[in-house]
Amino acid sequence: MNLRSVVELRRKLHGKRVIVRVDFNVPMRNMGEILDDFRIRRALPTIEFLLKNRARVIILSHLSRPSLQTRSKFRLDDVSQRLSELLGRRVLYIPDVVGKKAMKAVQALQDSEILVLENLRFYRGETKNDSDFAKKLASFGDYYVNEAFSNCHRKHASMVGIPKYLPSFAGMDLLQEVKLVEKMLVKPKKPSLAIVGGAKISSKLPVLKKLIKRFDAVIVGGGIANTLLLASGKKTGRSLVETKMVDSLRALVKNKKLLLPFDYVCAREIHKKSKAKICNADSLDKYDRIVDIGPETIRLYLELISQAKMIVWAGPMGVYEIQQFSAGSEMIAQAVAESKEFTLVGGGDTIDCIDRFSDKKNFTHVSTGGSALLEFIAKEKLVALRPLMKKSI
Ligand code: ADP
Ligand code: MG
Repeated sequence: MNLRSVVELRRKLHGKRVIVRVDFNVPMRNMGEILDDFRIRRALPTIEFLLKNRARVIILSHLSRPSLQTRSKFRLDDVSQRLSELLGRRVLYIPDVVGKKAMKAVQALQDSEILVLENLRFYRGETKNDSDFAKKLASFGDYYVNEAFSNCHRKHASMVGIPKYLPSFAGMDLLQEVKLVEKMLVKPKKPSLAIVGGAKISSKLPVLKKLIKRFDAVIVGGGIANTLLLASGKKTGRSLVETKMVDSLRALVKNKKLLLPFDYVCAREIHKKSKAKICNADSLDKYDRIVDIGPETIRLYLELISQAKMIVWAGPMGVYEIQQFSAGSEMIAQAVAESKEFTLVGGGDTIDCIDRFSDKKNFTHVSTGGSALLEFIAKEKLVALRPLMKKSI
């Protein structure tokens, strides 16, 4: 995919107003405590590049899914504060998006100054992709830069609307994400290995199918594995399964590239006080729930990870939040981290696993995207990337 890079603007930035759409939708606890700021950090090179070249930078982002009642919790003041600390410079913040206050602040902005506007989702026009809302936002800038890979699957006003009215460019981190995923899909190094886990197969089926097609082996865990086990005729007791999906999976489970767990950690309840036991398809009883992959499965998976020359991982292997059900996810996280080969990981809970059991720096690439990454792998396109493409003649 040939995207226009923000770097092409280098000589044109002096005194220009540049709208940068970022995804500062960071995990937060209570009010104001940012649990992980890596999405903010990842946007820094693009922002610094713009400021260094004397642009006037206007930052747009959403945060969570605010309602009228919960608005006050989802203001971007704490995020702006963190951005200011990370940049080591003053960041202006205006609690307004397209109103008079925002307009005034935009007009007053000087060269190499940076302004953060309020949470875009305070306006319904954002998620509704309203063209008047997009036009109004576009009127604030001379150029538009998309540095929000993780939001590129959404047809929202600030993602696909603004670029209709302004010359539009890809941010540095977005470009890097797109290039790495494309490289991985076009020519996976052999043997390539995909690890797919998480809660629901319905959200990961397209990506699972794609990876089975392109990669040498796909190993699975989590609720996804439960549903696949059921489709292959195994008992799953009271495990989390999506029974509706079973019929459509019968052909898939016969594919030799797909490996399912053959022993499991089971429990009667998914609760931090429930006891874990090891079982397999024969010993599992009808009240059991599969909550993690078992030790023999882990052994085989680790072996495959150690041999793989390219690894992509999305989705935990079990209920990793509860200590006695976390061994599978922990061992997989550590094994992928130890690999010296190309490793790409993504997904909200998968990243949480990495933070608990390893460190982001041990992976070649940690995607900022969860759903966006999965959709990009599955379809090799995303709705908000199209307006950034160089026109082919
Ligand atoms: P990601 O956010 O990385 O895409 P998901 O949201 O798809 O991952 O899945 C993570 C969630 O799935 C976790 O909350 C985890 O507890 C849950 N989960 C994983 N395995 C199981 C299982 N066997 N039974 C019930 N829940 C599971
Ligand atoms: Mg999740």
